[in-house]
Amino acid sequence: MRSLPTLETARLLLRPPIAEDFEAWAAFCADEEVARYLGGALDRAGAWRNMCAMTGAWTVRGYSVFSVIEKASGRWIGRVGPWYPEGWPGTEVAYSLGRNAWGKGYAYEAAAAAVEWAFEKLGWREVIHCIVPENEKSRRVAARLGARIQVVEVPPGPPVLQTLVAEVYGPDGERRIPARTRVWAAGVQASPLAAILAAATGAGTDRAGRVAVLPDCSLPGHPEVFAIGDMVRLNDLPGVAQPAIQQGTYVGKLIRARLTGKTDTPPFAYRDKGSMATIGHLSAVADSYGMKFTGVIGYTMWGFVHVLYLIGWANRIGAMFNWARALTFTKNRPYRTITAEHARYELTHDAIYDTYQGGLWRTSWA
Ligand SMILES: Cc1cc2nc3c(=O)[nH]c(=O)nc-3n(C[C@H](O)[C@H](O)[C@H](O)COP(=O)(O)OP(=O)(O)OC[C@H]3O[C@@H](n4cnc5c(N)ncnc54)[C@H](O)[C@@H]3O)c2cc1C
Repeated sequence: MRSLPTLETARLLLRPPIAEDFEAWAAFCADEEVARYLGGALDRAGAWRNMCAMTGAWTVRGYSVFSVIEKASGRWIGRVGPWYPEGWPGTEVAYSLGRNAWGKGYAYEAAAAAVEWAFEKLGWREVIHCIVPENEKSRRVAARLGARIQVVEVPPGPPVLQTLVAEVYGPDGERRIPARTRVWAAGVQASPLAAILAAATGAGTDRAGRVAVLPDCSLPGHPEVFAIGDMVRLNDLPGVAQPAIQQGTYVGKLIRARLTGKTDTPPFAYRDKGSMATIGHLSAVADSYGMKFTGVIGYTMWGFVHVLYLIGWANRIGAMFNWARALTFTKNRPYRTITAEHARYELTHDAIYDTYQGGLWRTSWA
């Protein structure tokens, strides 16, 4: 195994990260002010992945960022060093220090040592610094390092952080499909009443615990007992409101027909009016009668249709009041169903790429 280097300057020690650095690393990543130019703050889990990615590069590449230790205090103050992941726009020496190490010339001191090491030991012919244009302090450090703005460019191709993979597990629990988007889908389990009815009548249940009913929504052997909606399995209809509403209407008409002596009522037939789903703050998708709508228009349609089908004006007004309150005060967060720390991590890292796309300052040693 290669021996890992340690660089020493007048006031600092630069060594590869170790497990004990994590607390300080996590605090650094969580600091909004520090993370402003790094694509956004990370929580502890994100900081862990961030640290492991940078630490792992030492094994994979033989170099990566150093943890910077202030010699006088022994404390971890930031990370500085060569950084060249797959897809990165060039061989970078990155420098980011925690807030309590600002204003002391540490960034220059550490970066100068790392740049020298990159040229001498790694044989790099060029060092770049990816700097968000508004980051004046960082630009000053680059200038002091002797770098100059060479060209403003968009990185060729997506950097590795943009193509982070998410694990998607299939029914076998093993399958891993690389993907940029992760979706949590919560299954709905039918009311236990469905299983009781199934056991009593010999009707089967499916994986979701739905009881299988006959084409007229009645239970096998019991034409006088009906089951509808989420608790039944009929014609492979999805567990959404429309089948439940339409089955309710159908069974009502069927009972009335029977009471008048009619026996020729046709089986239940579902009328597909389309699909709608809310996906975020003032955003929904709607697909109805061949027309597709998204964004605010989709959301308005979604809201209108849902309110329309609520029973009674009290329910409608109550729902509208709750939605208005949620939209105003919490940006709809409690009403969203897709949320997770990992999604935030991926988005944060996408933001890094977006930030640089806004204007990558490519600086280089001549
Ligand atoms: C988070 C979420 C979001 C959804 N979003 C949408 C959407 O955007 N669009 C859409 O179309 N659908 C949506 N659905 C699905 C939709 O809510 C259901 O398909 C619909 O409510 C089914 O109606 P239902 O009458 O069959 O069941 P429910 O509305 O669940 O009503 C069943 C009632 O029976 C009661 N009950 C259960 N067991 C017993 C018992 N033993 N004795 C007496 N009462 C009992 C329950 O308490 C409940 O009040 C969503 C569902 C969830 C969970």
